[in-house]
Amino acid sequence: MSKILDFSGLPPYAETPNEEQIRSRFQRVADQGALRHALPQSFGGFGDGFVDLCRTHRRLGEASRDPGLMLAVNAHLWGSVFPILLYGNETQREQFLPPMISGQWLGGHAITEPGCGSDVQAMISYAERSGQDFILNGEKRYITNVPLADWLVVYAKLDGRISAFLVSRQDQGCTFTSVGALDTCLGSSTGSVILKECRLDNQRLLGKAGAGAQMIQKALEYERAFVFAGIVGIMAWQLQEVVRHSRERASAGVHLGRHQAIGHRIADMKLRLDTIDLWLGECARLCDTGQRLTMASAQTKLYAAEAFLQSSLDAVQIMGAAGLEPGCAMARLVRDALAGRLFSGSSEIQKNLIAALLGTGDAYRVYPPPCKP
Ligand SMILES: Cc1cc2nc3c(=O)[nH]c(=O)nc-3n(C[C@H](O)[C@H](O)[C@H](O)COP(=O)(O)OP(=O)(O)OC[C@H]3O[C@@H](n4cnc5c(N)ncnc54)[C@H](O)[C@@H]3O)c2cc1C
Repeated sequence: MSKILDFSGLPPYAETPNEEQIRSRFQRVADQGALRHALPQSFGGFGDGFVDLCRTHRRLGEASRDPGLMLAVNAHLWGSVFPILLYGNETQREQFLPPMISGQWLGGHAITEPGCGSDVQAMISYAERSGQDFILNGEKRYITNVPLADWLVVYAKLDGRISAFLVSRQDQGCTFTSVGALDTCLGSSTGSVILKECRLDNQRLLGKAGAGAQMIQKALEYERAFVFAGIVGIMAWQLQEVVRHSRERASAGVHLGRHQAIGHRIADMKLRLDTIDLWLGECARLCDTGQRLTMASAQTKLYAAEAFLQSSLDAVQIMGAAGLEPGCAMARLVRDALAGRLFSGSSEIQKNLIAALLGTGDAYRVYPPPCKP
Protein backbone atom coordinates (compact mmCIF):
# COMPACT_ATOMS: atom_id res chain seq x y z
CA MET A 1 0.00 0.00 0.00
CA SER A 2 1.55 3.29 -1.10
CA LYS A 3 2.00 5.97 1.56
CA ILE A 4 1.29 9.65 0.94
CA LEU A 5 3.87 11.69 2.84
CA ASP A 6 3.34 15.23 4.04
CA PHE A 7 6.20 17.74 3.91
CA SER A 8 4.19 20.83 4.81
CA GLY A 9 6.03 21.18 8.15
CA LEU A 10 9.47 21.31 6.55
CA PRO A 11 11.61 24.17 7.94
CA PRO A 12 11.80 26.88 5.23
CA TYR A 13 14.76 27.10 2.89
CA ALA A 14 17.36 29.57 4.19
CA GLU A 15 19.41 31.30 1.49
CA THR A 16 22.70 30.26 3.05
CA PRO A 17 21.78 27.50 5.48
CA ASN A 18 24.28 26.50 8.14
CA GLU A 19 25.21 22.90 8.85
CA GLU A 20 22.68 22.59 11.67
CA GLN A 21 19.84 23.76 9.40
CA ILE A 22 20.92 21.41 6.61
CA ARG A 23 21.02 18.43 8.97
CA SER A 24 17.71 19.33 10.58
CA ARG A 25 15.91 19.60 7.21
CA PHE A 26 17.31 16.22 6.21
CA GLN A 27 16.10 14.74 9.51
CA ARG A 28 12.59 16.17 9.04
CA VAL A 29 12.46 14.55 5.61
CA ALA A 30 13.67 11.25 7.05
CA ASP A 31 11.16 11.46 9.93
CA GLN A 32 8.35 11.71 7.36
CA GLY A 33 9.55 8.40 5.90
CA ALA A 34 11.00 9.75 2.65
CA LEU A 35 14.02 7.44 2.85
CA ARG A 36 11.95 4.27 3.20
CA HIS A 37 10.69 3.75 -0.35
CA ALA A 38 11.76 0.79 -2.50
CA LEU A 39 13.44 -0.79 0.52
CA PRO A 40 12.55 -4.03 2.33
CA GLN A 41 10.33 -3.85 5.40
CA SER A 42 12.82 -6.04 7.28
CA PHE A 43 15.20 -3.06 7.46
CA GLY A 44 12.56 -0.38 8.06
CA GLY A 45 11.57 0.25 4.44
CA PHE A 46 8.00 0.45 3.14
CA GLY A 47 8.49 -2.56 0.89
CA ASP A 48 6.96 -0.60 -1.99
CA GLY A 49 8.51 0.38 -5.32
CA PHE A 50 10.22 3.09 -7.32
CA VAL A 51 6.96 4.60 -8.59
CA ASP A 52 6.16 5.40 -4.95
CA LEU A 53 9.66 6.77 -4.44
CA CYS A 54 9.25 9.13 -7.42
CA ARG A 55 5.89 10.33 -6.13
CA THR A 56 7.34 11.18 -2.72
CA HIS A 57 10.45 12.85 -4.11
CA ARG A 58 8.31 15.00 -6.36
CA ARG A 59 6.18 16.14 -3.41
CA LEU A 60 9.33 16.87 -1.46
CA GLY A 61 10.76 18.92 -4.32
CA GLU A 62 7.56 20.92 -4.62
CA ALA A 63 7.43 21.58 -0.87
CA SER A 64 11.12 22.38 -0.39
CA ARG A 65 12.06 24.07 -3.71
CA ASP A 66 15.53 23.01 -2.71
CA PRO A 67 17.73 21.07 -5.18
CA GLY A 68 20.42 20.84 -2.48
CA LEU A 69 18.10 18.96 -0.16
CA MET A 70 17.20 16.61 -3.01
CA LEU A 71 20.90 16.08 -3.70
CA ALA A 72 21.51 15.22 -0.04
CA VAL A 73 18.68 12.66 -0.10
CA ASN A 74 19.92 11.12 -3.35
CA ALA A 75 23.57 10.94 -2.28
CA HIS A 76 22.42 9.21 0.90
CA LEU A 77 20.17 6.71 -0.89
CA TRP A 78 22.18 5.83 -3.99
CA GLY A 79 25.60 6.45 -2.48
CA SER A 80 25.17 4.45 0.73
CA VAL A 81 21.80 2.82 1.36
CA PHE A 82 21.38 0.93 -1.92
CA PRO A 83 25.05 -0.19 -2.23
CA ILE A 84 24.84 -1.58 1.31
CA LEU A 85 21.54 -3.30 0.48
CA LEU A 86 22.94 -4.74 -2.76
CA TYR A 87 26.50 -5.63 -1.74
CA GLY A 88 26.60 -5.69 2.07
CA ASN A 89 26.89 -8.93 4.01
CA GLU A 90 24.21 -9.72 6.60
CA THR A 91 26.14 -8.05 9.45
CA GLN A 92 26.67 -4.87 7.43
CA ARG A 93 23.05 -4.70 6.32
CA GLU A 94 21.78 -5.16 9.87
CA GLN A 95 24.26 -2.64 11.26
CA PHE A 96 23.83 0.10 8.66
CA LEU A 97 20.44 -0.07 7.00
CA PRO A 98 18.02 0.62 9.90
CA PRO A 99 19.85 3.77 11.13
CA MET A 100 20.38 5.00 7.59
CA ILE A 101 16.78 4.42 6.52
CA SER A 102 15.54 6.26 9.63
CA GLY A 103 17.93 9.15 8.94
CA GLN A 104 19.80 8.68 12.22
CA TRP A 105 22.95 8.21 10.13
CA LEU A 106 23.63 10.37 7.09
CA GLY A 107 25.56 8.77 4.25
CA GLY A 108 26.95 9.42 0.79
CA HIS A 109 29.69 8.19 -1.51
CA ALA A 110 33.18 9.44 -2.22
CA ILE A 111 34.49 8.77 -5.72
CA THR A 112 35.80 12.12 -7.04
CA GLU A 113 39.34 13.27 -6.23
CA PRO A 114 41.31 16.46 -6.89
CA GLY A 115 42.85 14.75 -9.94
CA CYS A 116 39.94 12.58 -11.05
CA GLY A 117 36.34 13.47 -11.85
CA SER A 118 34.81 12.02 -15.00
CA ASP A 119 37.66 9.55 -15.37
CA VAL A 120 37.00 7.38 -12.35
CA GLN A 121 39.69 4.86 -13.25
CA ALA A 122 42.27 7.62 -12.72
CA MET A 123 41.63 7.66 -8.96
CA ILE A 124 44.78 7.39 -6.85
CA SER A 125 43.37 6.85 -3.36
CA TYR A 126 44.54 3.43 -2.33
CA ALA A 127 44.09 0.72 0.26
CA GLU A 128 46.73 -1.71 1.47
CA ARG A 129 46.28 -4.88 3.48
CA SER A 130 47.77 -4.98 6.97
CA GLY A 131 47.04 -8.39 8.50
CA GLN A 132 43.22 -8.60 8.65
CA ASP A 133 42.90 -4.80 8.28
CA PHE A 134 43.06 -2.26 5.45
CA ILE A 135 45.00 1.02 5.54
CA LEU A 136 43.54 3.80 3.35
CA ASN A 137 45.33 6.87 2.01
CA GLY A 138 44.07 9.55 -0.36
CA GLU A 139 41.83 12.56 -0.80
CA LYS A 140 38.25 12.88 -2.02
CA ARG A 141 36.73 16.16 -3.23
CA TYR A 142 33.25 17.65 -3.85
CA ILE A 143 31.52 14.97 -1.79
CA THR A 144 27.84 15.62 -1.07
CA ASN A 145 26.86 15.48 2.63
CA VAL A 146 30.45 15.99 3.84
CA PRO A 147 31.34 17.11 6.49
CA LEU A 148 27.96 16.23 8.07
CA ALA A 149 27.87 12.60 6.98
CA ASP A 150 28.25 9.90 9.61
CA TRP A 151 29.34 7.23 7.13
CA LEU A 152 30.50 7.19 3.53
CA VAL A 153 31.13 4.52 0.97
CA VAL A 154 34.68 5.47 -0.05
CA TYR A 155 36.22 4.03 -3.21
CA ALA A 156 39.96 3.35 -3.32
CA LYS A 157 42.26 1.05 -5.26
CA LEU A 158 43.26 -2.22 -3.65
CA ASP A 159 45.88 -4.18 -5.60
CA GLY A 160 45.25 -1.76 -8.49
CA ARG A 161 41.48 -2.36 -8.66
CA ILE A 162 38.78 -0.10 -7.27
CA SER A 163 37.18 -1.40 -4.06
CA ALA A 164 34.56 0.04 -1.71
CA PHE A 165 35.02 0.72 2.01
CA LEU A 166 32.67 1.88 4.75
CA VAL A 167 34.34 4.84 6.42
CA SER A 168 33.08 6.71 9.50
CA ARG A 169 33.62 10.36 10.29
CA GLN A 170 35.05 9.12 13.58
CA ASP A 171 37.66 6.77 12.17
CA GLN A 172 41.24 7.53 13.16
CA GLY A 173 43.18 8.88 10.18
CA CYS A 174 40.05 10.12 8.42
CA THR A 175 38.89 13.75 8.29
CA PHE A 176 35.62 15.00 6.78
CA THR A 177 36.09 18.70 6.07
CA SER A 178 34.23 21.53 4.37
CA VAL A 179 37.41 22.50 2.50
CA GLY A 180 36.56 22.60 -1.21
CA ALA A 181 32.82 23.15 -0.54
CA LEU A 182 30.93 24.14 -3.71
CA ASP A 183 28.92 27.34 -4.09
CA THR A 184 25.82 25.59 -5.44
CA CYS A 185 22.95 23.45 -4.14
CA LEU A 186 23.48 25.04 -0.74
CA GLY A 187 20.67 23.05 0.85
CA SER A 188 23.24 20.26 1.09
CA SER A 189 26.86 20.41 2.11
CA THR A 190 29.83 19.41 -0.03
CA GLY A 191 33.35 18.86 1.21
CA SER A 192 36.49 16.78 1.18
CA VAL A 193 37.63 13.56 2.80
CA ILE A 194 41.27 13.23 3.81
CA LEU A 195 42.54 9.71 4.47
CA LYS A 196 45.93 9.39 6.15
CA GLU A 197 46.88 5.90 7.28
CA CYS A 198 43.21 5.28 8.05
CA ARG A 199 42.97 1.73 9.48
CA LEU A 200 39.77 -0.23 8.91
CA ASP A 201 38.99 -3.78 9.94
CA ASN A 202 37.88 -6.31 7.36
CA GLN A 203 34.18 -5.75 8.14
CA ARG A 204 34.58 -2.38 6.41
CA LEU A 205 35.16 -3.83 2.96
CA LEU A 206 31.86 -3.51 1.10
CA GLY A 207 31.27 -6.05 -1.65
CA LYS A 208 34.07 -8.05 -3.18
CA ALA A 209 37.62 -6.69 -3.31
CA GLY A 210 38.13 -5.21 -6.78
CA ALA A 211 34.38 -4.93 -7.55
CA GLY A 212 34.26 -1.17 -6.88
CA ALA A 213 34.05 -0.06 -10.51
CA GLN A 214 30.92 -2.15 -11.10
CA MET A 215 29.49 -0.89 -7.79
CA ILE A 216 30.07 2.72 -8.86
CA GLN A 217 28.33 2.05 -12.14
CA LYS A 218 25.32 0.54 -10.39
CA ALA A 219 25.10 3.35 -7.81
CA LEU A 220 25.33 5.98 -10.53
CA GLU A 221 22.71 4.23 -12.63
CA TYR A 222 20.20 4.62 -9.80
CA GLU A 223 21.37 8.15 -9.04
CA ARG A 224 21.06 9.25 -12.68
CA ALA A 225 17.63 7.68 -12.97
CA PHE A 226 16.15 9.32 -9.88
CA VAL A 227 18.18 12.38 -8.88
CA PHE A 228 15.69 14.52 -10.82
CA ALA A 229 12.61 12.88 -9.27
CA GLY A 230 12.54 15.64 -6.65
CA ILE A 231 13.84 18.40 -8.89
CA VAL A 232 10.90 17.80 -11.24
CA GLY A 233 8.67 18.94 -8.34
CA ILE A 234 10.73 22.13 -8.15
CA MET A 235 10.29 22.58 -11.90
CA ALA A 236 6.51 22.18 -11.50
CA TRP A 237 6.55 25.01 -8.94
CA GLN A 238 8.81 27.07 -11.24
CA LEU A 239 6.30 26.67 -14.06
CA GLN A 240 3.35 27.66 -11.85
CA GLU A 241 5.21 30.80 -10.81
CA VAL A 242 5.98 31.95 -14.34
CA VAL A 243 2.41 31.27 -15.45
CA ARG A 244 1.16 33.35 -12.51
CA HIS A 245 3.64 36.13 -13.28
CA SER A 246 2.81 36.15 -16.98
CA ARG A 247 -0.88 36.59 -16.12
CA GLU A 248 -0.33 39.33 -13.56
CA ARG A 249 2.27 41.44 -15.34
CA ALA A 250 1.31 43.51 -18.36
CA SER A 251 3.42 44.95 -21.16
CA ALA A 252 2.30 46.83 -24.28
CA GLY A 253 -1.29 46.72 -23.03
CA VAL A 254 -1.58 42.95 -22.65
CA HIS A 255 -0.55 40.39 -20.12
CA LEU A 256 2.96 39.04 -20.65
CA GLY A 257 1.72 35.59 -21.60
CA ARG A 258 -0.14 37.06 -24.57
CA HIS A 259 3.22 37.81 -26.18
CA GLN A 260 4.09 34.80 -28.24
CA ALA A 261 7.76 35.00 -27.23
CA ILE A 262 6.71 34.49 -23.59
CA GLY A 263 3.98 31.94 -24.30
CA HIS A 264 6.37 29.79 -26.31
CA ARG A 265 8.94 29.79 -23.51
CA ILE A 266 6.22 28.66 -21.11
CA ALA A 267 5.10 25.94 -23.54
CA ASP A 268 8.71 24.71 -23.77
CA MET A 269 8.95 24.62 -19.96
CA LYS A 270 5.78 22.53 -19.78
CA LEU A 271 7.05 20.13 -22.44
CA ARG A 272 10.37 19.67 -20.62
CA LEU A 273 8.61 19.06 -17.31
CA ASP A 274 6.29 16.43 -18.73
CA THR A 275 9.09 14.76 -20.68
CA ILE A 276 11.15 14.36 -17.51
CA ASP A 277 8.09 12.87 -15.82
CA LEU A 278 7.78 10.33 -18.62
CA TRP A 279 11.46 9.40 -18.33
CA LEU A 280 11.19 9.05 -14.55
CA GLY A 281 8.16 6.84 -14.97
CA GLU A 282 10.09 4.67 -17.42
CA CYS A 283 13.06 4.33 -15.03
CA ALA A 284 10.70 3.46 -12.17
CA ARG A 285 8.97 0.88 -14.35
CA LEU A 286 12.30 -0.71 -15.32
CA CYS A 287 13.40 -0.91 -11.69
CA ASP A 288 10.07 -2.22 -10.44
CA THR A 289 10.14 -4.96 -13.07
CA GLY A 290 13.80 -5.85 -12.50
CA GLN A 291 15.06 -4.68 -15.91
CA ARG A 292 18.35 -3.04 -16.92
CA LEU A 293 18.54 0.69 -16.35
CA THR A 294 21.85 1.64 -17.96
CA MET A 295 20.57 3.31 -21.13
CA ALA A 296 17.39 4.82 -19.66
CA SER A 297 19.17 6.30 -16.66
CA ALA A 298 21.81 7.98 -18.83
CA GLN A 299 19.10 9.38 -21.12
CA THR A 300 17.03 10.57 -18.16
CA LYS A 301 19.96 12.30 -16.49
CA LEU A 302 21.13 13.93 -19.70
CA TYR A 303 17.69 15.17 -20.70
CA ALA A 304 16.62 16.28 -17.21
CA ALA A 305 19.86 18.15 -16.44
CA GLU A 306 19.76 20.12 -19.68
CA ALA A 307 16.00 20.72 -19.33
CA PHE A 308 16.31 21.98 -15.75
CA LEU A 309 19.00 24.47 -16.75
CA GLN A 310 17.08 25.73 -19.80
CA SER A 311 13.82 26.06 -17.87
CA SER A 312 15.61 27.89 -15.05
CA LEU A 313 17.08 30.35 -17.56
CA ASP A 314 13.65 30.77 -19.18
CA ALA A 315 12.03 31.40 -15.78
CA VAL A 316 14.44 34.26 -15.01
CA GLN A 317 13.90 35.73 -18.49
CA ILE A 318 10.12 35.64 -18.10
CA MET A 319 10.28 37.18 -14.61
CA GLY A 320 12.53 39.98 -15.88
CA ALA A 321 14.67 41.77 -13.30
CA ALA A 322 12.28 40.57 -10.58
CA GLY A 323 13.82 37.13 -11.13
CA LEU A 324 17.15 38.50 -9.97
CA GLU A 325 15.90 40.23 -6.82
CA PRO A 326 17.67 39.11 -3.64
CA GLY A 327 15.91 36.10 -2.17
CA CYS A 328 14.15 35.21 -5.46
CA ALA A 329 14.49 31.46 -5.90
CA MET A 330 14.64 31.70 -9.71
CA ALA A 331 18.22 32.98 -9.91
CA ARG A 332 19.35 30.48 -7.27
CA LEU A 333 17.83 27.68 -9.33
CA VAL A 334 19.98 28.66 -12.34
CA ARG A 335 23.12 28.21 -10.23
CA ASP A 336 21.82 24.90 -8.87
CA ALA A 337 20.87 23.74 -12.38
CA LEU A 338 24.45 24.31 -13.55
CA ALA A 339 25.52 21.70 -11.00
CA GLY A 340 22.92 19.30 -12.40
CA ARG A 341 24.96 19.01 -15.59
CA LEU A 342 27.98 17.84 -13.56
CA PHE A 343 26.94 15.72 -10.59
CA SER A 344 26.35 11.98 -11.10
CA GLY A 345 28.42 12.21 -14.31
CA SER A 346 28.37 15.23 -16.64
CA SER A 347 26.13 15.63 -19.69
CA GLU A 348 29.10 14.85 -21.93
CA ILE A 349 29.73 11.62 -20.05
CA GLN A 350 26.06 10.61 -20.45
CA LYS A 351 26.40 11.16 -24.20
CA ASN A 352 29.58 9.06 -24.24
CA LEU A 353 27.73 6.31 -22.41
CA ILE A 354 24.67 6.41 -24.69
CA ALA A 355 26.91 6.34 -27.78
CA ALA A 356 28.95 3.45 -26.33
CA LEU A 357 25.77 1.49 -25.57
CA LEU A 358 24.78 1.96 -29.21
CA GLY A 359 28.11 0.44 -30.20
CA THR A 360 29.82 3.62 -31.37
CA GLY A 361 33.21 4.90 -30.21
CA ASP A 362 35.95 2.65 -28.98
CA ALA A 363 37.54 4.44 -26.07
CA TYR A 364 34.88 4.37 -23.40
CA ARG A 365 36.93 4.17 -20.22
CA VAL A 366 35.14 6.55 -17.90
CA TYR A 367 33.21 3.83 -16.17
CA PRO A 368 33.61 0.12 -16.75
CA PRO A 369 32.48 -1.10 -20.15
CA PRO A 370 28.69 -1.01 -19.97
CA CYS A 371 26.59 -4.11 -20.38
CA LYS A 372 23.82 -4.18 -22.94
CA PRO A 373 20.82 -2.04 -21.91
C1 LIG B 1 26.93 19.60 -6.59
C2 LIG B 1 27.88 18.47 -6.81
C3 LIG B 1 27.85 17.37 -5.96
C4 LIG B 1 28.75 16.32 -6.14
N1 LIG B 1 28.70 15.25 -5.28
C5 LIG B 1 29.61 14.25 -5.43
C6 LIG B 1 29.59 13.13 -4.52
O1 LIG B 1 28.74 13.04 -3.63
N2 LIG B 1 30.53 12.18 -4.67
C7 LIG B 1 31.48 12.23 -5.65
O2 LIG B 1 32.30 11.34 -5.71
N3 LIG B 1 31.52 13.26 -6.52
C8 LIG B 1 30.59 14.28 -6.43
N4 LIG B 1 30.62 15.34 -7.30
C9 LIG B 1 31.64 15.41 -8.31
C10 LIG B 1 31.11 15.03 -9.68
O3 LIG B 1 30.91 13.65 -9.77
C11 LIG B 1 32.13 15.54 -10.71
O4 LIG B 1 32.01 16.96 -10.72
C12 LIG B 1 31.87 14.99 -12.10
O5 LIG B 1 32.14 13.61 -12.15
C13 LIG B 1 32.75 15.70 -13.15
O6 LIG B 1 34.08 15.68 -12.74
P1 LIG B 1 34.92 17.05 -12.68
O7 LIG B 1 34.08 18.08 -12.03
O8 LIG B 1 36.23 16.74 -12.09
O9 LIG B 1 35.08 17.49 -14.18
P2 LIG B 1 36.12 16.88 -15.25
O10 LIG B 1 36.08 15.40 -15.24
O11 LIG B 1 37.43 17.55 -15.04
O12 LIG B 1 35.47 17.39 -16.60
C14 LIG B 1 35.53 18.77 -16.99
C15 LIG B 1 34.73 18.92 -18.28
O13 LIG B 1 35.27 18.06 -19.29
C16 LIG B 1 34.27 17.16 -19.75
N5 LIG B 1 34.85 15.84 -19.96
C17 LIG B 1 35.66 15.14 -19.12
N6 LIG B 1 35.96 13.94 -19.63
C18 LIG B 1 35.31 13.85 -20.82
C19 LIG B 1 35.21 12.86 -21.82
N7 LIG B 1 35.80 11.66 -21.67
N8 LIG B 1 34.44 13.11 -22.90
C20 LIG B 1 33.82 14.31 -23.06
N9 LIG B 1 33.88 15.30 -22.14
C21 LIG B 1 34.62 15.07 -21.03
C22 LIG B 1 33.22 17.09 -18.64
O14 LIG B 1 31.96 16.76 -19.13
C23 LIG B 1 33.27 18.53 -18.11
O15 LIG B 1 32.46 19.35 -18.90
C24 LIG B 1 29.70 16.38 -7.17
C25 LIG B 1 29.71 17.48 -8.05
C26 LIG B 1 28.81 18.52 -7.88
C27 LIG B 1 28.84 19.67 -8.84
